[in-house]
Amino acid sequence: MPKKPVNKQPLEPLQLFGSRTMPNRPKKCSPYDAEPAEKVLSWALQTYKVLVDLTKDLHSGVSMIELRQFSRTGEIQIPDWAIPLGASVTPTVTTFKSGFTLNVPLMDTTIYLEYLANRFIKAGGEIHGDVKFEKLEDVGPAFDLVINCAGIGARELVQDIDLEPHRGQVAIVPKIDNLCCAIVCDDPPLMYAIPRTNDCVCGGTNEVSDNLDADPTTTAHILDECSRVLKIENPPVLAERVGLRPFRKPGVRLERDRLRDGRTVIHNYGHGGSGFTLSWGCAEEVFALCGLLG
Ligand SMILES: Cc1cc2nc3c(=O)[nH]c(=O)nc-3n(C[C@H](O)[C@H](O)[C@H](O)COP(=O)(O)OP(=O)(O)OC[C@H]3O[C@@H](n4cnc5c(N)ncnc54)[C@H](O)[C@@H]3O)c2cc1C
Repeated sequence: MPKKPVNKQPLEPLQLFGSRTMPNRPKKCSPYDAEPAEKVLSWALQTYKVLVDLTKDLHSGVSMIELRQFSRTGEIQIPDWAIPLGASVTPTVTTFKSGFTLNVPLMDTTIYLEYLANRFIKAGGEIHGDVKFEKLEDVGPAFDLVINCAGIGARELVQDIDLEPHRGQVAIVPKIDNLCCAIVCDDPPLMYAIPRTNDCVCGGTNEVSDNLDADPTTTAHILDECSRVLKIENPPVLAERVGLRPFRKPGVRLERDRLRDGRTVIHNYGHGGSGFTLSWGCAEEVFALCGLLG
């Protein structure tokens, strides 16, 4: 979504353009399905710090939660980055081989996205949710700088053939009794149960596909696996959600470029399954690139 950058002082009007939002995805703070490893880790750690600060604001929708990350196949390695953050081996539940536990910020997107939008508007920004550009040059001439955060939309917008839609489906269920930590296993079948303020998100899937329709059979498999792990009866489904992780094989594209009409564009897309996890780190780099413009 192209937008005018945040200037320091005074704040100029900012505008966000886009055509859809996906407010029901669960968010956890560990880089998943995003490249390149050395960059995503540093962006994730920067983001982690900002999110921990946001937990102090009760309206942000960000809170700390215990994440229990499990492996089905063997001894799970506690990643180096997680050790200073207090990760430790966790006793395994029968379904898994091993696991570790770590406190991470959880963004309850049903609250967090609205919080961010309000903050943006308060800072003088405008959001236009019903705009679809054919090309970046179509952004009005009043904007001398364009920031391209089009996610999977960048495939058409800037003809980026490296982008791949990694489709993910989740089921939203009522809050599950006694589940106060997030349970995650990235080994197939991908499984997670993430309690939020008013419900619980059960996942998940990851396949190369553009299909945004929810598949009821997939939902049934997700709930079977979550119920098996949590040792509960299958919960009722409140909603099914599908989204496309904007995976980019060579890695996140975060760089300055020039439009055909001479204006500057900063690309910031291709965050795969970690767009929230990397968000503040990438935003700081975008902001630094804006500063270089003089
Ligand atoms: C099931 C699932 C679970 C996930 N879990 C996590 C998680 O736990 N943690 C995490 O960090 N991430 C997670 N993700 C990934 C995360 O949702 C994405 O990485 C993130 O949404 C990407 O953000 P983005 O702003 O780059 O793209 P998007 O959220 O897709 O936003 C792109 C915006 O650009 C607009 N746009 C696109 N093309 C155009 C155009 N031509 N003209 C105008 N506007 C345009 C779109 O309308 C949209 O508003 C998950 C994703 C899925 C599907």
